[in-house]
Amino acid sequence: MKRDKLIFKLLDEEQQRQEEGLELIASENFVSLQVMEAAGSVATNKYAEGLPGKRYYGGCQIVDEIETIAIERAKQLFNAEWVNVQPHSGAQANAAVMLACLQPGDKILGFDLSHGGHLTHGSGVNFSGKLYEPHFYGVKKETGYVDYDQLKEVALREKPKMIICGASAYSRDWDYAFIRKVADEVGALVLADISHPAGLIARGLLTDPLPHCHIVSTTTHKTLRGPRGGLIMMGKDFENPWGLKTPKGEIRMMSNLLDMAVFPGTQGGPLEHIIAAKAVAFAEALSDSYLKYIVQVKKNGAAIAEAFTSRGYEIVSGGTDNHLVLIDLRNKGVTGKAAENALVKADITINKNMVPFDDKSPFVTSGIRIGTAAVTTRGMKEKQMEAIVALVDEVIMDPENELSLNKIRKKVHKLTEQFPLYSDKGKE
Ligand code: PLP
Repeated sequence: MKRDKLIFKLLDEEQQRQEEGLELIASENFVSLQVMEAAGSVATNKYAEGLPGKRYYGGCQIVDEIETIAIERAKQLFNAEWVNVQPHSGAQANAAVMLACLQPGDKILGFDLSHGGHLTHGSGVNFSGKLYEPHFYGVKKETGYVDYDQLKEVALREKPKMIICGASAYSRDWDYAFIRKVADEVGALVLADISHPAGLIARGLLTDPLPHCHIVSTTTHKTLRGPRGGLIMMGKDFENPWGLKTPKGEIRMMSNLLDMAVFPGTQGGPLEHIIAAKAVAFAEALSDSYLKYIVQVKKNGAAIAEAFTSRGYEIVSGGTDNHLVLIDLRNKGVTGKAAENALVKADITINKNMVPFDDKSPFVTSGIRIGTAAVTTRGMKEKQMEAIVALVDEVIMDPENELSLNKIRKKVHKLTEQFPLYSDKGKE
């Protein structure tokens, strides 16, 4: 076969874009070369429906070993008793959890998308809002923190079957113990979706949901710095006190129901190459160098929040406990969309984001979300966070000035040149 020059040229261009630009999208990161190598390996060729030791295909003896190692490493990393490493993505992980635990039409209570929640937590455009009856809690207007009073009030009123906590754009820690108490009062299951702060939780920098929540789901590619994918975990192999049944009407252990909800419930063959890459990433996340990294991610979060605040920006909730900040740009007279477009021209990538009680549409928005996971992987520290905020501010203060955007772009390249990505540094 002739080499596909077109696609590989575009991939080279994408690498250059990543190397030169400032990546501030809170859900992105840069994987190590060994994670990429595993993700691009021969395991992509293998069908392996089922679980290690119980497959529907022959020749699975080696991928069985790979998947077993991935499971054991994930258990060790999160101190979990049961793990399924097969979900293709975070959305797939949540779909499987809901399929295992809910019946169509059941009530769910999630964190409002426009306050920072995720589509899969009950949005009307997502399966979660179409198949189930969604109810929501949000943040308090005055503080920007989750309104736990509202959460309790709606839970007591609606008696949902599942309460979902976790977010895509929320910079504070969660009170999982409180949520569990409320859930116990109404007989609900608690799902914590830790997709964003998974790395911080794994290394003890934020409250651990596993002792409190029945089920925990996550993506593997954000702060955790693995390949794109999902994961479902439980702190205990719950015995299914709710009497949840398989499609054939059998009552099984929760772990068993969740495994079945992944395959055959929502997926076909697992991506064993991605599972191999997850295994590599989990070992990396258990290392001392990752601990140093994730501590710095959190420090950089605090530094970036402080630098924006000192330049007169309004951070939702006034700061951050994790790797991201949500900035309300209304006092700057710029929309999230205009800011995103102008920043891209300066090779700074962020995303526009609704802020709580936003008066603009999701396509325009009043805010932007900024994260530190990717730039910290490049080796950037507090000093560079200040430099980044200065560059972002320069763009936002004059977003239509092409000449100035071009000058800022050159400054961005100068900064990123000092922190090479996949040349020497990224190779560990
Ligand atoms: N859950 C949360 C909280 C997320 O932030 C995301 C992705 O942004 C997802 C789930 C979905 O993950 P994926 O894009 O892998 O489907």
